[in-house]
Amino acid sequence: MAGQHVVFIASEAAPLAKTGGLADVVGSLPRALARLGHRVEIILPFYRRIIEGSGFAPSPTGIEIDMWADGRNWPCRIHELEDGGIRYLLVENDALFDRDGIYGPPGGAWDDNLLRYIVFGRVALEAAARLDALVDVLHCHDWQTAFIPLLLRTQYQHHAPIAQARTVYTIHNLAYQGVFDAGWIHRLGLPSHHFHAEDYEFHGQINCMKAGIANADAITTVSPSYAREILTPAYGCHLDGFLRRHRARLSGIVNGIDVEHWNPATDPCIEAHYRAGRIEGKRRCKAALQEACGFEIDPKRPLLALISRLADQKGIDLLLANAEEWARREHQLVVLGSGDPYTENMLAELAGRHPARIFFHRGFDERLARRIYAGADIFLMPSRFEPCGLGQLIAMRYGAVPVVRATGGLIDTVVDYHASKARATGLHFVEPEPAAFDRAVTEAVALFAQPRIWSRIRGNALRRDSSWDASAEEYSRLYRRLTDGTGT
Ligand code: ADP
Repeated sequence: MAGQHVVFIASEAAPLAKTGGLADVVGSLPRALARLGHRVEIILPFYRRIIEGSGFAPSPTGIEIDMWADGRNWPCRIHELEDGGIRYLLVENDALFDRDGIYGPPGGAWDDNLLRYIVFGRVALEAAARLDALVDVLHCHDWQTAFIPLLLRTQYQHHAPIAQARTVYTIHNLAYQGVFDAGWIHRLGLPSHHFHAEDYEFHGQINCMKAGIANADAITTVSPSYAREILTPAYGCHLDGFLRRHRARLSGIVNGIDVEHWNPATDPCIEAHYRAGRIEGKRRCKAALQEACGFEIDPKRPLLALISRLADQKGIDLLLANAEEWARREHQLVVLGSGDPYTENMLAELAGRHPARIFFHRGFDERLARRIYAGADIFLMPSRFEPCGLGQLIAMRYGAVPVVRATGGLIDTVVDYHASKARATGLHFVEPEPAAFDRAVTEAVALFAQPRIWSRIRGNALRRDSSWDASAEEYSRLYRRLTDGTGT
């Protein structure tokens, strides 16, 4: 079966530039697609100080593209680099993209984000059109690149080298829709005849995500459960009715992780290596983490961990409501995260009151994250909603048993102890209430105290196949359906 030519267009990709799970997906799915024989390029903005700061040195391709928007020209140059066998094309315009944050200063957003990503999207289309082979599929992600399918259908419909491409639009998180003032339509020259309720208009404003949903040849989201949930008012973020009208093109494909990048048998950041069946190294990782946190070093003490953006979605309030009681029960709790300043302060205060039991590190730190995944017994994910979630996949890979709220991708990836004692990889709780979360954690701690049961659950988690292989096959079949003309 001949491979397809697929171009990912996205606003972040690990390891070049990352704020969350979107970057992990864009950084790892293309490699799995390439292993299946597809040709894949990734087009990203050139966030110069962030990308160069991560140690990458892209080189110019010589391609220069002028883009008119908001009353002036934005000259862009295309750079390239290769990482992990994948070619990246980076759109350079320092005024737009070389800033201290990807989307804004800490906790904020740049005022001109729509301008930045519309210029980026148009330049990305022109760069894709100049590749040495015709593109079969343009795969766009989240609100930042959601206008691309519409631009392709309208302003680029006669642009010969790219007009034939089919489009896939993936929703990584429906909560971030990219809503902007309608005044930008004129300033950016967006197709105004599509500004209506069945396209990108939303209560008189521009809604980027609606443009993607209305115009892409296929819409995906990152787990089958989330694909069902977003059709309901409880999870639909005011787009459930709109999504129901487009459900024939919507499917859910669960995320994977790069199992080489996340591998406790080789991870250079952790104290000792281990794998399923040879678990001794995990004990040393736990002792090292306990020591680093200033906790008592005791293998029998349950060590709970949470690594997350500190946002409403993540249910940190459920943790805050229980943490003091867990400290009283002499559990140990490590939290790594940044985001909402109120939550950061609450966590810092808690850790200050219980330094021997609760440790909080404010910030984004992948090395520390790895040491926590490796050292923890129980990984907490009390999300109010979770499109897929990667934390629980990494945690299972590192033998930290997840306790998760039964929502979205957490349902699809963690086998609940109550559903199957033999196949369990973690525990679920249903109501987004502190008491329900506490019951699940209490039960996990009780199971942890029973070594035979715990080693079975932990072994199941360690052996779970969280690689991209199966999901890359699903994307592959979707691309094929689209380009065969049988997919819409
Ligand atoms: P989301 O994309 O909603 O933030 P996911 O669970 O899909 O959540 O992905 C989160 C990713 O970001 C995981 O790889 C997780 O390890 C990582 N991460 C989150 N917060 C931090 C942090 N403070 N430091 C290091 N890594 C983090």
